[in-house]
Amino acid sequence: MTLRELRFYLRGRVNTAVARLVNRRRGAPVRPLELEEVLRAPSPSLLEYVRLLEGRPNDERQALVACYLAARGLPFRRHPYRTFEGRGENFALDVGQGSKILVLIGHHDAVPGSPGANDDGSAVAILLALAGRLTADPPRGVRVRLLFTGGEEVGYLGARCYVKEEILDDVVGVLSLELCGIGDALAVWDAVPPLDRAPFLGAVATTLEGLGYRRDETYHVVGRIPVFGSDHRAFAARGIPAFGLTVIPLAEAEGLRQFIFSPLRSAFRQLVRRPPPFDTYHTARDRSETLMPSALAQTADALFALAHSL
Ligand SMILES: [Zn+2]
Repeated sequence: MTLRELRFYLRGRVNTAVARLVNRRRGAPVRPLELEEVLRAPSPSLLEYVRLLEGRPNDERQALVACYLAARGLPFRRHPYRTFEGRGENFALDVGQGSKILVLIGHHDAVPGSPGANDDGSAVAILLALAGRLTADPPRGVRVRLLFTGGEEVGYLGARCYVKEEILDDVVGVLSLELCGIGDALAVWDAVPPLDRAPFLGAVATTLEGLGYRRDETYHVVGRIPVFGSDHRAFAARGIPAFGLTVIPLAEAEGLRQFIFSPLRSAFRQLVRRPPPFDTYHTARDRSETLMPSALAQTADALFALAHSL
């Protein structure tokens, strides 16, 4: 056990305990979709994928991702992990040819008491939809690895175990999708030196601009975000260009900037008024009704275009 691991462990426990306390009064029950209901459609809507996981305990969320991939005949690798911090399973599905690898991550776990629709059912939904789209129309220049991680909410444990055991030499870039279901603008975050000069980040910007996005208007590239974090940091710690990707409401951009970049405010995020999408983050209100199908579709389209442009 290293000091770093101990820090992650303690922070994870605090996060879980806070969520349990804040969400002790649960909202109206959520009825998730059954796997059979989702499989009935050849290409389910993004919201249907979210509803497959929504409101379920973490072991069910994890199992359903694997069951869905298996039922669709998509060949994925299992990556079980177990440490003193916890246990779980990551799943990795590679699509396309090429020696370069683009890793797209969504975590299947949620904090206690939260239905986990936007955090991070939105990401899992986008990746499941991309699995089908990219298999039907595979990228030629890059292999896309869709990585479904566990234990993100306890200090991105699944991702840390994954990078310890995998050979990552061919990974050109990593995006970890977080809260991609509310809003109309994209934010790429944790763009810190020297990784902010990585060709991969340039390729992301070029792709977005090719789709009509405008920098500092409909897409933002921001530096290190205090307090919050995600799976990509496990990769960035190894020197790999790895960033977070989140959808934000354009109208809230300024309020969000103040909220996120004020460490004090974000540390006490349970107590202060939080701008969307953080108003439902880690709460019992993180339900699929609050999501915007357009936000999910926008993210999926951008990532599909990125996969085809690398
Ligand atoms: Zn998350």
